[in-house]
Amino acid sequence: MKDKQFLMIPGPTPVPQTALIELGKAPLGHRSSEFSTILKETYENLKWLFQTKNHVFIYTSSGTGAMEAALANILNPGDKVLSLIIGNFGERLAKISTTRGANVERMQVNFGQTIDPQILKERLAQDINKEIKVITLTHSETSTGCANPLKELMEIIRGHGAISVVDGVTSVGAMDVKPDEWGIDILISGSQKGFMIPPGLSFLMASERAMKAYEECKYPSFYFDFKAYKKAFESDTTPYTPAVSLISALNETLKIMKNEGLENIFARHKRLALGLRKAIKAMGLKLFVEDDTKASYSITSILPPDGITVADIRKVLKEDFDIVVADGQNDLKGKIFRMGTLGYVCERDVIGAIGALELTLKKLGANIELGNGVKAFLESLIA
Ligand SMILES: *Cc1c(COP(=O)(O)O)cnc(C)c1O
Repeated sequence: MKDKQFLMIPGPTPVPQTALIELGKAPLGHRSSEFSTILKETYENLKWLFQTKNHVFIYTSSGTGAMEAALANILNPGDKVLSLIIGNFGERLAKISTTRGANVERMQVNFGQTIDPQILKERLAQDINKEIKVITLTHSETSTGCANPLKELMEIIRGHGAISVVDGVTSVGAMDVKPDEWGIDILISGSQKGFMIPPGLSFLMASERAMKAYEECKYPSFYFDFKAYKKAFESDTTPYTPAVSLISALNETLKIMKNEGLENIFARHKRLALGLRKAIKAMGLKLFVEDDTKASYSITSILPPDGITVADIRKVLKEDFDIVVADGQNDLKGKIFRMGTLGYVCERDVIGAIGALELTLKKLGANIELGNGVKAFLESLIA
């Protein structure tokens, strides 16, 4: 059947009809009062979603743009950055820091693992002269399906005093992140993940401490300049021509999210991800991240059964069921496949996807009993 594709990749994610309708409308002028009204509401609701009193800037870029914006506006050449790396996206923050001339130290774990708070604590305790200016870290690491213990890590970082840059691209709007309470200085995200709209916007929350670091930045970014975006935020506008249609669509999806409520949104992601994990195990497959407490609720990484390739699984899921799942990235390519439960995803979608995966594996010759996965998922819902 055509036109019934279910994107289960970790972005772009499915988009609800109300947002699609906005995207089909003629664009508004970006300096019009109509658009300003939409922006005002969107900015307010973004603050709600980000659980912050700080400004949340909207950039016209993919998520990586906000990652670059974060570092370009606070780093000077020679600054010391500690990058906590649990996957490819954590590595990206380290690489961007390097392009700003920073002196980058990596704290890296085997992929599939998370940062041990104790090890971070010990490293920071050694930094007596407070040389580490910035610490970068990922909350939900999309490349592995892990989630760092962000609250605990933030407590340690706050104790040290470095500026924290947190990649919340697949956690904001899916998992609980409390920047004000936990002391996160910069929190970034992207529209095609938990925000239920297509790619094209990125978001950056900047604390007062982040703005102070910006004041000391000798060569801040022009396009992503914090001050320009702060001023625009305060006057319900944007510095340059934004992706007006995406913002109108976002205004609608934020209303959907507000209707559902933050607690319910987080509970849904948790329920779907943990249920999917139960289903995968019931099917006799292995999870890449074995410990539930280290799992992201946005993305689940799964090892293919022996003798069956990731490429074949993805192909049959696509051709027979119109379901798109992601391959692993870089070193993990062909070793895992990743199923997203991020954004506009509900129980019905996941029941269908698990059933489709069971049939796919059967067709490819796996020794599995049909229905075990679906049964485990259904049981997890009434448990
Ligand atoms: C998707 C993603 C990004 C940003 O990627 P873009 O392709 O630039 O949107 C950054 N971090 C994480 C964890 C992501 O999942």
